[in-house]
Amino acid sequence: MRVFLNPGHALGGNPDSGFSHPRLQLRECNLALTYGSLCGRYLELAGCAVKLLQSHNLSGENPGYPCVVDMANQWGADVFVSIHVNAGGGRGPETYCYRTDGAGGQLAACIQHQLLWGLAPYDRGYVDRGIKEHPSFCVLRNTIMPAVLVEVGFIDSDDVGILTQHGDDIARAIAQGIADYWRDTKTSVPIDMLLGE
Ligand SMILES: [Zn+2]
Repeated sequence: MRVFLNPGHALGGNPDSGFSHPRLQLRECNLALTYGSLCGRYLELAGCAVKLLQSHNLSGENPGYPCVVDMANQWGADVFVSIHVNAGGGRGPETYCYRTDGAGGQLAACIQHQLLWGLAPYDRGYVDRGIKEHPSFCVLRNTIMPAVLVEVGFIDSDDVGILTQHGDDIARAIAQGIADYWRDTKTSVPIDMLLGE
C-alpha cells in the first residue's frame, strides 16, 4: 500500500506557516510536519510505502516548489492524506473529503474515528466535528486516489494540550485510520498493523 502524506503549508514556514498560536511559539506547519513524519514511520513499520511532501505548491500554483498533487498522482499513491491544524477557537477534529459517499469519505470516516478513539479520552472537550465534503480543496479535487484533509484540532483553543502533548497519539491515530480503511476496502491485501499495542 502506497500512502502519500502532505503536512500542510510550507516547509519551514516560509513563505506560509499556516496558523499560529496567539502567544506560544507554535506554528501549524511544524505541528503538521511532526504528525506527518511520525505517522509515516508507523506506516512504514507496518509495511506501507510512504512518501511525504510539505510544499508551498499544492497543485501547480507555485512552480518554484515541488508539486504535491503531481507527485502523488505520478507515484501512484493508493491514498492521500493532508494534515492540518485548525484555528478559530473551536474544539476537536474534522476530516474533509471530496464526497462523503465515495472512497475518500470512507477514508475520512476511518481517520476521524481513530482520532476521537485515541485522543478524546485525554480531554472530553475534544469533540467530533464530523466528516465534511469540500470538493473545492485542490488536494481533494486534483488527486486521482482517495484523498482526505484532516484538521486534527484547533491551535487557538484548549485543543492545544492535545496538539502539543499527544502528537505521537495523533500520528498513530491517523496511521491506524489509514490501516482500517485499507483493511475494510482491500481485504485481499494483508497489512500487518500493530499500532494499537
Ligand atoms: Zn492548514
